[in-house]
Amino acid sequence: MPKVAKVIVDVPSRETDRPFDYLISESMRGWIDVGSRVAVPFGRRTVQGFVISLSDHSELSLSRMKPIQELLDHLPPLPPDLVDLAEWMSHEYACSTISALQVMIPAALKGKAERYIRYAEPKQDTDVAEDEPDWYSDSLLQLDEEKQIIDYVKASGPVTVAHLDQRYPGQSVIIKQLLKQGILIESQSIKDRMKIKTVKTVVAAVHGEEAEQAMASFNAQSKRQKEILAFLLEVEVPIGMQELLSTLGATAGTVKKLAEKGFAIIEDVEVFRDPYKDRRFKASKALSLTPEQQAAYDRICETVDHQAYGVFLLHGITGSGKTEVYLQTIERCMQQGRQSIVLVPEISLTPQMVERFKGRFGDKVAVLHSRLSAGERYDEWRRIREGQVMVAVGARSAVFAPFPKLGLIVMDEEHETSYKQEETPKYHARRVAVKRAMQHDAVVILGSATPSLESYHAAKSQTNESFAPILLEMRERPSGSQLPKVEIVDMREELKEGNRSMFSRGLHQAILDRMERKEQAVLFLNRRGYATFVMCRTCGYVAGCPNCDISLTYHQKSNNMRCHYCGYSEVAPSVCPECGSEHIRYFGTGTQRVEGELAKLFPGIRVIRMDVDTTSEKGSHEKLLQAFRDKKADVLLGTQMVAKGLDFPDVTLVGVIAADSSLNFPDFRAAEKTFQLLTQVAGRAGRHLLPGEVFIQSYTPDHYSIIHASHHDYLSFIREELKHRRNLSYPPYCRLILVTLSHENLQLVVRMAENFTSGLRGRAQQRGWFGGLDRFTSDAFDILGPIASPIPKIKNRYRFQCIVKYRGDLDAIDLVREITNETLEQLRDGLLQISIDVDPAMMM
Ligand code: ADP
Ligand code: ZN
Ligand code: ZN
Repeated sequence: MPKVAKVIVDVPSRETDRPFDYLISESMRGWIDVGSRVAVPFGRRTVQGFVISLSDHSELSLSRMKPIQELLDHLPPLPPDLVDLAEWMSHEYACSTISALQVMIPAALKGKAERYIRYAEPKQDTDVAEDEPDWYSDSLLQLDEEKQIIDYVKASGPVTVAHLDQRYPGQSVIIKQLLKQGILIESQSIKDRMKIKTVKTVVAAVHGEEAEQAMASFNAQSKRQKEILAFLLEVEVPIGMQELLSTLGATAGTVKKLAEKGFAIIEDVEVFRDPYKDRRFKASKALSLTPEQQAAYDRICETVDHQAYGVFLLHGITGSGKTEVYLQTIERCMQQGRQSIVLVPEISLTPQMVERFKGRFGDKVAVLHSRLSAGERYDEWRRIREGQVMVAVGARSAVFAPFPKLGLIVMDEEHETSYKQEETPKYHARRVAVKRAMQHDAVVILGSATPSLESYHAAKSQTNESFAPILLEMRERPSGSQLPKVEIVDMREELKEGNRSMFSRGLHQAILDRMERKEQAVLFLNRRGYATFVMCRTCGYVAGCPNCDISLTYHQKSNNMRCHYCGYSEVAPSVCPECGSEHIRYFGTGTQRVEGELAKLFPGIRVIRMDVDTTSEKGSHEKLLQAFRDKKADVLLGTQMVAKGLDFPDVTLVGVIAADSSLNFPDFRAAEKTFQLLTQVAGRAGRHLLPGEVFIQSYTPDHYSIIHASHHDYLSFIREELKHRRNLSYPPYCRLILVTLSHENLQLVVRMAENFTSGLRGRAQQRGWFGGLDRFTSDAFDILGPIASPIPKIKNRYRFQCIVKYRGDLDAIDLVREITNETLEQLRDGLLQISIDVDPAMMM
């Protein structure tokens, strides 16, 4: 059996981002495996680590190697495929392996080192040098207080310092003395943040003849014990201690006495916390598929049945029944004994969504939700790890669900940016899903009414071997209901005609109608409206960058506008450069303001506001939606949260207060995001019998993203948008790496950012990488910047960024990492930070 374990330690630094060799003690050898979590000595500390491989050899001599201190779980928490995946992520996202491993396990297993005091066993070994003092046998030398403490620790096993302090107050001097003498020793151990939940159970330990003898052995004093044993013999199976005590009116002491005699066994049995245990889910059966659904399902199942790798892009309009296709494919996998992961954006992980999976597959479904308590989340995770469930539904990180036989990964609303993690490791769940599917010969379904340009382009061009989804389309709704009629309202006209309110006259009237008809409305306000841009309310002019085709961001303090891609800046105008109007100002509205306006303009209107403020509490999201479903309100007003996955039969009106706020976000994906959002929100209206109506208010009603969204015309939008991306060389025509440098000292960070960029430029030139982006050759490379980050200072650290664009087989990530390390070496003050974001979702 292998003697050496290669361990990735939980020490977040560049120098420690490699495996370290540890000796596996004899007794651990059978237990330790790839993926095991261990406590190891590291320097003077004890840290947690993960075994990534086992070996018989090491470059270190066996005598110099330290042994693994502790094995933290009997079953390795990570299966080998996830350990491989972590190493892949470390390369693909230029992150440390430990950060990738950590994101795969629930928070409960992120152990924390704790200090213990234990008794040092005196050496019994007579082979050891005779002159070694046998201090404890000479107990006359010990003070009474010392003896007390020693005896206590000896009996209780390792105790924390705090515990000892509490038990022997004011005796810290003595404890310290004992530590100095080496009679007590201090050690560290890794403690899980969360314990497995257990209940005490009792079961009879005697049977047949033995039981009869036992029953005969009781006397008058032990009558109660006899009763209990009789009861246990009758029920046969283990019974909860609490239940036993309350049924018989007995005390725990009596049961314990019974156990001491060897007649009963008291055991801690682990239980799973089920966050959905009190919920009833409406059971649902497989629906008979429409021809479109059937065609998609058949094509996917072809691959599923071959147990082969495959990626499908299911492009289906809102309400086309994509979820039913997911459900039936999951069932198919289940019949083959293979498990499925369903990924949904966090904000659409609503009870409605959960209900559809729980309703179909009952307790075969685990739900991984950020709102679960750490304990609940941990238990759901264990049910997955132990193969007790067949489906895991969850947000981004559920892509790491450690299923033993993964057959399918569904990614609903695949275009959502929340699939990209903004913190290290900055992975995208779509890429990880595809990689996992390759490892397992599994299938990925990417579903959306508005697929991301990346996925759609990959499906159409089929040029990327590892990511070339097969496109499946669904254009109709099973219900036969039509997509709602969408009206674009030109808010400039409204102002011209004297309407200064945030509601156009059309939307105003439509809201009044719904109140009268007792139907409901959803009003949508873009959260991205936080970013402020400068706009003329008379003509709709928006100040944009001359070089980058994106809007400038307004900075109130300096009263200027800046481009966050190229660094261009100018003073904010006081009159519109286009029409001369003075109604030019910076923009940004909040949901609270809209709520106030509604109350003022529509007396008696009942509004439910749903935004980060009103949904921060656990369960509040569900409660608000339930109240709306119960028709306790006329209007549901909210941010992104109201755009996704909601299905209410009485919603016949959708109003978008200001479509422009996402359009003018300084991001090359602004048009795409706007189109997706408008399509999503519009899809909330008229999903059932009643026809729907949609108002989109805008100051730039001619923008192609708004016009195509109003016609539900994905293809026209995508054609136009791809043209723009191609002209400006942005994804999907290249990949991006965003590098952000930060430091407390402005001059230093500017210098280092320049060093970094020129270092990268030089090395790329040496390799002959430069150019080609505009010529659409297969290999291409360019660097933009350095420029100040959109948020130039965070927590007193100045931030500068540069953007790498590349295409083809160039190992740009590796090179960026290399130059990053070199740049950090140049300064070595420990204060310079360089963050690398591969395929960034946001350019902040
Ligand atoms: P999507 O996820 O594509 O937006 P949904 O899965 O929410 O669409 O489906 C919309 C509605 O159509 C749901 O109420 C669903 O129950 C219903 N539905 C889906 N498939 C069928 C079918 N084959 N027959 C009847 N109703 C269906
Ligand atoms: Zn103007
Ligand atoms: Zn610019």
